[in-house]
Amino acid sequence: MLSPHVTEGHPIPLFHEVHADDEYLLNTIDGEWFEILHDFAWEDYRAHAAAYYDALYAFNLDQGEIPKDAGGAIGETKAAAQQRLLFDRTTMQPPETARQILYQGPTVEWKSPTVNPMTLAPGIVPVRLAGRQPKCFFGLFKSFLGTVLMGFPAEPEQVHLLLKSNPSFARVCGFTPKEKDKPWQYGPLQIPSLRKLEQFDQVMREAGLWDRIKVSEVTANLQSGVIKKENELVGDTTHYHAYSGFETVAYEDDKGNAKKKSQSKVTKACRCDDWASCSHDWELTDDGAGTVVKSKTKMYWGHKASVIGLPKQGVALDAMAVADAATHDGQTFFPHVEKVFNDYPDLATSINRVLYDSACDDAELKTRFKDALGVELKASFNPRRSKATTEALPRGIEKITPYGVPVCSAGHEMDYRGIRYDREKFIYEAPTQNDGTSVCVGCPERTECCNSSTQTGRTLTVSFDTLPQIDSNDPPMAKRFKAIMRRRPSVERMIKRLKCDLGDDRLSKRGNQSFQAYLDKTMIAYHLLIRHLH
Ligand SMILES: [Zn+2]
Repeated sequence: MLSPHVTEGHPIPLFHEVHADDEYLLNTIDGEWFEILHDFAWEDYRAHAAAYYDALYAFNLDQGEIPKDAGGAIGETKAAAQQRLLFDRTTMQPPETARQILYQGPTVEWKSPTVNPMTLAPGIVPVRLAGRQPKCFFGLFKSFLGTVLMGFPAEPEQVHLLLKSNPSFARVCGFTPKEKDKPWQYGPLQIPSLRKLEQFDQVMREAGLWDRIKVSEVTANLQSGVIKKENELVGDTTHYHAYSGFETVAYEDDKGNAKKKSQSKVTKACRCDDWASCSHDWELTDDGAGTVVKSKTKMYWGHKASVIGLPKQGVALDAMAVADAATHDGQTFFPHVEKVFNDYPDLATSINRVLYDSACDDAELKTRFKDALGVELKASFNPRRSKATTEALPRGIEKITPYGVPVCSAGHEMDYRGIRYDREKFIYEAPTQNDGTSVCVGCPERTECCNSSTQTGRTLTVSFDTLPQIDSNDPPMAKRFKAIMRRRPSVERMIKRLKCDLGDDRLSKRGNQSFQAYLDKTMIAYHLLIRHLH
């Protein structure tokens, strides 16, 4: 705990206050957040702190600039803007030419910081920043992470509420409450106002610093062995409820048919009195939000995130906002694996297989993974038909399910045994009962089915032609296929961790930039927690 009485330009005093309830909190079971913040290795974040103070300096100079031109025509009507923004969306472009599947933040040039990182420490801020002294980076950063570690969303309102209401939290972040008799007092170590927390979040977001810190946290965990290398990655998407409403936009497709699509409402960032005549651009109130279709009856207005992780350890490596939430899952996995390979080249060399659900069961996509990334894509089987096969069946068999499982007239599902490639047939056998004998023994249908000549159960073969939906080179009935796919659902637990344990699936900010920052902040805290529990 640092003393609050550090004045500008002076080094931190070399004494350490020990608070009795710090000791108590360190010993409580759910005190993970406290331990992590208490033992926070701030030295590791000096370079990020320097980059932040630089970005804050630039931010202060930029204040009062007019909104940037986003490409709309002068005098554009609201209706025309709706159409322009609609046709700009990823899901309005043919999949093969869609420019951007995953959200791409503003490209931030990486410059070496003007501030010397080695001069920074908790409570010591650079003197260069004109006017009032900035709030301490380390305190602000810790307060956002602590909020996630306590299970709350990493948004300024929530951080502010916790700093105000939980003195132990404020103190372990390095802040002190205002002294009652000096309400005018202001300093880098006083609990920041909501406006300061919002500004910190915005500066971090616009400078791409949340993203950069996320990558460095994951890299650190990979390099130190906290996360072991695996030879597989697993992916999935998940939705978060949007903090916005939508409108239904009618349009004509390229064949001239009347269509409708849900879209975020349009607005302007300027404060002009008359939006109908001012020259500023219309934009979406919540870019990236869209209709997420979970099933025929379940649809959500929300943002979509793609999550990738290591299946055996159940560790999430990255979470990315999808540029348009209405994008089909089959399109998001490839660009995301590509990004993970770019961000973590060391890890990429150990990966030879990637797992996904049936949204990615597509021959072309599998070839693309093989050719471009050198990995095998293994997806849950999508039979692309809902009806069972009922024609050209072996005797005694009633139907074969779309998944390639024959069901006999006595209602037993046949076990898959293998393939006779020379005869192009799949082989099945009747299952055994608890006592080890075949279900065929004593079956009333036996005379019609088994020839009653043997005491063993029925064996049958089914021609490849009968089951055209099954890839004979990789049949989903095979034990090996099932064993690999058993690791896929681990991504669902990763998603639960990120979405429920370390935050909330209801967003309180709009736009993909805020959504991506939200995911990044959650991921930073998640990887700090993994390191702590290791
Ligand atoms: Zn305007």
